[in-house]
Amino acid sequence: MIDMDINFLNAILNTHSVSGFENQAGKLFLDYLAPCVDSIDMDSIGNCYAYIGNECKGDKSIKFLLDAHIDEIGFQVIYIDEQGYIYIRKNGGIDVYCIPGSQVVIRTSSGEELFGIIGKKPIHLIAPEERNKNIELHNLWIDTGLSPYEVKKKISIGDVVAWKSNMIYLSDTKISSKGLDDKVGVYIISQVLKKLSSSENDSIQVCGVASVQEEVGNRGAIICGHKVNPDIAICIDVDFATDVPDCPKTKYGDIALGKGVVIHRSIDNTSSITSLVENIAKENNIKHQVSARTLAVGGTNAVVLQQTKDGIMTISLGIPCRYMHTPVELCDLDDIESAIELLYLIITKINSEILIK
Ligand SMILES: [Zn+2]
Repeated sequence: MIDMDINFLNAILNTHSVSGFENQAGKLFLDYLAPCVDSIDMDSIGNCYAYIGNECKGDKSIKFLLDAHIDEIGFQVIYIDEQGYIYIRKNGGIDVYCIPGSQVVIRTSSGEELFGIIGKKPIHLIAPEERNKNIELHNLWIDTGLSPYEVKKKISIGDVVAWKSNMIYLSDTKISSKGLDDKVGVYIISQVLKKLSSSENDSIQVCGVASVQEEVGNRGAIICGHKVNPDIAICIDVDFATDVPDCPKTKYGDIALGKGVVIHRSIDNTSSITSLVENIAKENNIKHQVSARTLAVGGTNAVVLQQTKDGIMTISLGIPCRYMHTPVELCDLDDIESAIELLYLIITKINSEILIK
């Protein structure tokens, strides 16, 4: 196993970063990388950038952008009733069936973090014919245990609500947590940049970005593509693992946890570069899987980066993930490791000479 700093993965998973409110997690990313990269930067929307190498267009080096989104799905407060119960709406595609029974954290405008629970009427008190009725978010509420007075004093409309941090190891390599989508991607970028910073190769030009607001429409990536304008953008995000019941391979393809990083062959990606990446993986015995994705286009930041300015060449890599967009996402550290190895090789092996061939 390569040297991975699991403490940093833990730290970003434990830092709430609901879409639009990613500042604390972004700062963690920059603080972690500042000692080993050449420069860091943050833009107006909150994308956090870490750079290695100087602009030297015209020579053999390629300018790479490594993108992973640091935002996680969550909520904001929209209404507080007279009894102090708090109503919320979604920031991103939360599966509403996973909400009742969950523990949440409300970040108040003063920066305080308060616990809450999203309870439910006991099943005994629900008439049998009502029990399987569809769940709707506006019929659910947060109970903080505080008095109505305390709730109104501390909590305001617009305050951010995140699922409580819950990272656990299920085995030596399998981890479960909320927000693995896409903190595993941010973690991978951090480890690749660390590795590149200690390499001897001084012709490398790479910008790693922890991008924001992916879950609400790839909004951070739009700005980041214009700002960095790389030769090649590489998106790293979680991907649907289909090694679970009720996920037919005939419909969704065959992607399994622990079988390596996923290389996407879809039209969000530049096919010539994707082929180079597949060859690098094969030649270096890096565990990998290939996917054409379940949709022809979309689902990651690659879709907007590809269409930025005059067009940017894109590659996208997936980390197999079970139970995406629930509070118990599940990934395998072995897949994360293979992604780190592959990305490092992509950046050190692909240069303009290879691209012209
Ligand atoms: Zn994602």
